[in-house]
Amino acid sequence: MNFDFTAEQKQFAETVRRFTREQLAPGALKRAHDPRFPFDVAELMAKQGLMGITLPESDGGQGGTLMDAVIAIEQVAAECPRSADVVQFGNFGPIRTFAEYGTETQKSRWLSELLAGRMVMSLGMTERDAGSALTDLKTSARADGTHYVLNNSKVFSTFSPDAQIFLVYVRFGPGPSGIGSVLIERGTPGFSIGSPSAFVSDEEWCELHFKDCRIPGENVLLGPGGFKKQMAGFNVERLGNTARSLACGRYAFNAARDYAAKREQFGRPLCEFQGLQWKFADMAIKLDGAQLLLYRAAANADRGLPSAYETAVAKAACNQAGFEVASEAVQIMGALGYSRETLVEYCMRRTRGWMIAGGSIEMLKNRIAEHVFDRRFDQRKRVAAAE
Ligand SMILES: Cc1cc2nc3c(=O)[nH]c(=O)nc-3n(C[C@H](O)[C@H](O)[C@H](O)COP(=O)(O)OP(=O)(O)OC[C@H]3O[C@@H](n4cnc5c(N)ncnc54)[C@H](O)[C@@H]3O)c2cc1C
Repeated sequence: MNFDFTAEQKQFAETVRRFTREQLAPGALKRAHDPRFPFDVAELMAKQGLMGITLPESDGGQGGTLMDAVIAIEQVAAECPRSADVVQFGNFGPIRTFAEYGTETQKSRWLSELLAGRMVMSLGMTERDAGSALTDLKTSARADGTHYVLNNSKVFSTFSPDAQIFLVYVRFGPGPSGIGSVLIERGTPGFSIGSPSAFVSDEEWCELHFKDCRIPGENVLLGPGGFKKQMAGFNVERLGNTARSLACGRYAFNAARDYAAKREQFGRPLCEFQGLQWKFADMAIKLDGAQLLLYRAAANADRGLPSAYETAVAKAACNQAGFEVASEAVQIMGALGYSRETLVEYCMRRTRGWMIAGGSIEMLKNRIAEHVFDRRFDQRKRVAAAE
């Protein structure tokens, strides 16, 4: 067993880091406080070969591995945490499921614009009454000749204020097997986008409304029965959130470490107080442990999709580690850490969201428990058998 990167991985990491330091680090603070999608960064990343890292070259990707994409997120976040969202979008987000299951016609229409960073895609999954219980979703896709007619609404979709194309989970029929997904362009008649609301992170999202919205059959990504495939693809998205959680935790850790080495109180640098040294030791243990779980899930997936169990373990560990470390870094840096003059408070706010998004920590733990006991635990209320 080898816990080190290969020579190629080290070289790739160094190249990404140099690019990020030169091109993105200078605007990192300002960029973090801009709620909209940074298209300028996306275009730069496309030129640098950081979009579609895991996609085959025949699809316009780089033919790399999931581990390469994780390395890219880590190196970008180390200099500009907000820009890591672009690595997420271009490699882990709905674009990955789209590229995996899309038809050649669908891909030729949208994939090259997405990979060029000129267009962003948003995922419409959650509804007001269907969050963790995703299979309760009600957005219907009723067949009407060669078209489908969509009704209902979606909430909380990341990048929705800027997206041109939406990957939307819909219901073609009853039950989980009736769920699939469709692709819908902004501007389609019957599809309206509400005004932006903000998360704690300042990122914005809009409610998506479908009112007798007609789309052609060729816009179906996964038909009825596609839910399992959809969730398999979604494990990649989860790993992106996992990697960003850890990377933001590490960013905050490094900032607090540099601060504690220099900042003096009572005539001594903060790092000489044992109360703070032990905080750093605990933070290092959390980050290093979570990182190994992330690397296991990514390395085992190689060029395929990661396992549901390894993804759940990695995401729960990195979500917790990232937030706890970022929060502790704020504490160590005192009022400066709590102010918007540094990115440490930003890392704390961002990591908090990933404990909820893309499978909350509780739902991941439910999944892990199923693996432990090797049986399924139905979360739904039991219906009493008829007398
Ligand atoms: C930053 C951010 C980005 C997001 N981006 C997107 C996006 O791009 N697209 C999209 O469609 N959605 C997105 N979401 C929504 C996200 O998918 C949902 O928030 C998530 O599925 C949880 O649903 P909910 O918020 O309705 O919480 P609920 O499902 O109402 O859960 C509330 C609480 O109860 C817990 N809980 C629920 N059921 C159980 C159970 N069986 N066992 C134990 N605990 C349980 C949950 O863990 C949570 O703590 C985003 C959310 C956030 C915060």
